[in-house]
This record gives sequence, C-alpha cells and structure tokens, in this order.
Amino acid sequence: MVATLIRTCARFALDFALPPRCAGCGTIVAEVHSFCADCWNKVEFLGESGCRTCGLLLEATEAQTCGVCLAQPPRIARTRAAVAYGDLTRSLAIWLKYGRKVATARTMARYMAPLIQAEGSDPILVPVPLHRARLWQRGFNQSVLVAHELARRLKVRTDPLVLRRLKRTPPLKGMSPQQRRKTVAGAFSVADKSAVAGKTVILIDDVLTTGSTAEACAKALRRAGASRVELITWARVVRPSQLMR
Ligand SMILES: [Zn+2]
Ligand SMILES: [Zn+2]
Repeated sequence: MVATLIRTCARFALDFALPPRCAGCGTIVAEVHSFCADCWNKVEFLGESGCRTCGLLLEATEAQTCGVCLAQPPRIARTRAAVAYGDLTRSLAIWLKYGRKVATARTMARYMAPLIQAEGSDPILVPVPLHRARLWQRGFNQSVLVAHELARRLKVRTDPLVLRRLKRTPPLKGMSPQQRRKTVAGAFSVADKSAVAGKTVILIDDVLTTGSTAEACAKALRRAGASRVELITWARVVRPSQLMR
C-alpha cells in the first residue's frame, strides 16, 4: 500500500520533471502526448471526414452519407477513426501492445476523444474484448487501456466486462470480407444485458480494417438491447492494398 503510494508519487514527480516527448519519435515537444511537427506531417488525421455513418471517404459529392449506408443502414450507427493506418500510426498500435503501453494509450485517447459525442446520450465505452486465452498470453487488452484513458478524459463510463469473446478466432489478415464475417460470427456475447439495454454503446478498438469484428460485437450488443452502437478506433485502414497484406 505504502509502496504503491510512493510509486504513484514518484511517477507524478517524473511527469512534472521530464519535458514531454513526441509520441512518434521521442523529440522534446511543447505538449504532453502529442506529435512533433515532422511526425504530425506523417500522420493523416481523419476526424469527421467521410460518410457520416461509416466514415468511408466519399467521392466528390454533396451527400453526407454513402450509397451503401443509405441502401442499408449498418448495425454500427457511426464509425470514426482518429487517423489513417500508416507507418507511424501502425508503430503506435504496436507499442500499445508490446511497448510503451500507458503513454501510447494516452496519446491515442487524446486524438480519439474529440470523436466521441458524449453529451445527452450518457454512453458506455466498451473495449473490443480479447479471448481469455489471448488475454492470458498478453496479460492485458490494449483496447481496455485506451477505453480507460478515454473514460478518464471525458468523464464517461467504461465497462470492459460487459462483452465477452467466446471464440478464439485466427488472425483475419489476408481473409476476404466474407471469410472474416464467417470467422467472427457468434464470437461475442453480452455478459450482463441490463448493463447495455436501452443504452448507447461506443465500441473502442485500436485498428479498424474491414470492421467485421466490430460488426459481430454490434450484433451481440443490439441483440442484448443496446439502443445504438458506435465504433471509435485509433487507426483505420483506408487503402484496399493494406487489407490483403
Ligand atoms: Zn516526432
Ligand atoms: Zn457510409
């Protein structure tokens, strides 16, 4: 107990004593959990651009919603990613899993937070869960860290236990969208329906590729009575070539 307190104080003292460093390259910057000018230029920020529903980039048009979403509104009512998946933003996703975990989660949360519309809907942030075997291997779920930082920043609730991953799925890389959908079908279930019934649930994940995993989560959440499901991620694969690698 005392040791924990001393450690916490020491960390606070260090936070104040050390100058903030760029989240990409480590150069000293003015603001904590931000990027230097060079790294900033390498990051493609997506923000509120693209289709209002799915976030996919729209061709030059006046429309705010893409044809696919208009024809059939997707289960996920709103999808947003802070940045496009690229060399630097991928590095951050890797550090979150294997390296500077908490600092990286804070950087991601800083850029994801403006995409969360919390007013009026009292949302609950739900990180996309890992299967317990994977959790045991890695020791933590990277999306839980990010959701925790977002909840702290925005003063909203997060519940990492509400959604469970029942099936251990193989990596989806290289699979077609149909194969992905089939692989993750039925992989998730809601542990406590009363926690989500009638609520807006915002799924939190690190990288969005085709969205089939989040889709499967949304299906389970809607079945459990969630009134609306959104998805906010750190990075999004926007070029088809990146999907097939
Ligand atoms: Zn930098
Ligand atoms: Zn769309």
